[in-house]
Amino acid sequence: TTITREYIKEQVKEKNVRFLRLMFTDILGIIKNVEVPITQLDKVLDGEMMFDGSSIEGFVRIQESDMYLKPDFNTWLVFSWETDSSKKGKVARLICDIVNPDGTPFTGDPRTNLKRVLKEAEELGFTDFNLGPEPEFFLFKLNENDEITENLNDNGGYFDLAPNDLAENCRRDIVLELEDLGFEIEASHHEVAPGQHEIDWKYANAVEACDNIQTFKLIVKTVARKYGLHATFMAKPIFGINGSGMHCNMSLFNENGNAFFDENRPLQLSETAYKFLAGLMDHAPAFTAITNPTVNSYKRLVPGYEAPVYIAWSGRNRTPMIRVPESRGMSTRLEVRSVDPMTNPYLALAVMLKAGLDGIKRDLKATEPTTDNIYEMDAAELESLGIKSLPGNLLEAVESLKKDDTIIEALGEHIFKNFVATKTLEWDQYKATVSQWEKEQYLHLY
Ligand code: ADP
Ligand code: GLU
Ligand code: MG
Ligand code: MG
Repeated sequence: TTITREYIKEQVKEKNVRFLRLMFTDILGIIKNVEVPITQLDKVLDGEMMFDGSSIEGFVRIQESDMYLKPDFNTWLVFSWETDSSKKGKVARLICDIVNPDGTPFTGDPRTNLKRVLKEAEELGFTDFNLGPEPEFFLFKLNENDEITENLNDNGGYFDLAPNDLAENCRRDIVLELEDLGFEIEASHHEVAPGQHEIDWKYANAVEACDNIQTFKLIVKTVARKYGLHATFMAKPIFGINGSGMHCNMSLFNENGNAFFDENRPLQLSETAYKFLAGLMDHAPAFTAITNPTVNSYKRLVPGYEAPVYIAWSGRNRTPMIRVPESRGMSTRLEVRSVDPMTNPYLALAVMLKAGLDGIKRDLKATEPTTDNIYEMDAAELESLGIKSLPGNLLEAVESLKKDDTIIEALGEHIFKNFVATKTLEWDQYKATVSQWEKEQYLHLY
């Protein structure tokens, strides 16, 4: 779809749009938005809306704060809900790229940066880099003051139905809202843990798929609120039960179709697919800092909860970091299972694409697939198979990132520097904190 200025103007009239949200994503993956009344429409469409970049995490210093928002017309959509004011009307949104005052692209903008890395895929003859994400999330109850509690909204389990799945109506509402916004929903179900859910929709080209993830999170959180619930994409909100992942199904297309598919090769995977896979595994220690970006992310990557711990791949087995789902033909894809939904999707796709392309450029050989349950292997067995662990915590991941020039290149200097600075501070703060666990272990004993 190519949406024009005229179409947007028609929609504004037809749907009585009164407010326009201009959205973009900061380095931490948080959606930011400026809302303007619809009277500003022309100014917005001309890319003349300015904002103060210095108040956004990891963007610019105060001396150089003026930035422009350049809307991507194709991201136009009108939310179904009405504004609360007496003059009822609708709210629409546009996702924007960030531009310097001199008109050049701002290198600290994650969305613009992803487009830059996508050009490298084009130069290698690929037409599309596709992503089908599987975000999982928890629903917690709000109390009478609308504050978040630690009570999950139900005790359901994998694929449970009502009455166990009390969130059924909430989830259905989310799906309906998303469908209204043009999402092609493929599945929606209760996940393994109590209060945990998953909604999957059709894959799309990288930038659009990332925009969709950001829209998805906004809708999930907004609809959940209406049900007195807080939706969280935190990777491991509760110790002892599954955490939330965001498996990333990825494929490269070229003029002949899916470049990962080759009928005549082992597992019907093309040489390109094997090299891409090898590149992902080679750079995994470094890109994990981006795909699993918080202190909490690493509490999910432990044995026993369907989340990966080791850098390995397999055809079917769900314990390794990368799985090749059964479908072939146009659906041939690699599923990276380590990614969690706290990641900034634009950065995650930039680093994973770069890692895979590097595997293609360097002709890397994929290791043998791991067919056994890796959780059950001992250290000697892992060592003999050459299976390495994913970073054990945020510090290890950031240290690996600092040593990997390819992944640094995928982020660009600006994002890399700001990301490392923010994450180093996060780790230092965490390290100095005294946790509940420590009190329970030591307070009475010593
Ligand atoms: P799982 O096997 O892990 O349960 P799902 O069926 O839940 O996987 O999710 C599959 C995801 O993969 C969906 O988002 C789907 O659109 C996506 N997908 C299908 N084909 C491709 C492809 N060629 N490239 C990328 N993603 C794809
Ligand atoms: N919740 C699991 C994770 O942390 C994934 C479960 C699944 O296979 O869908 O990745
Ligand atoms: Mg799942
Ligand atoms: Mg999956």
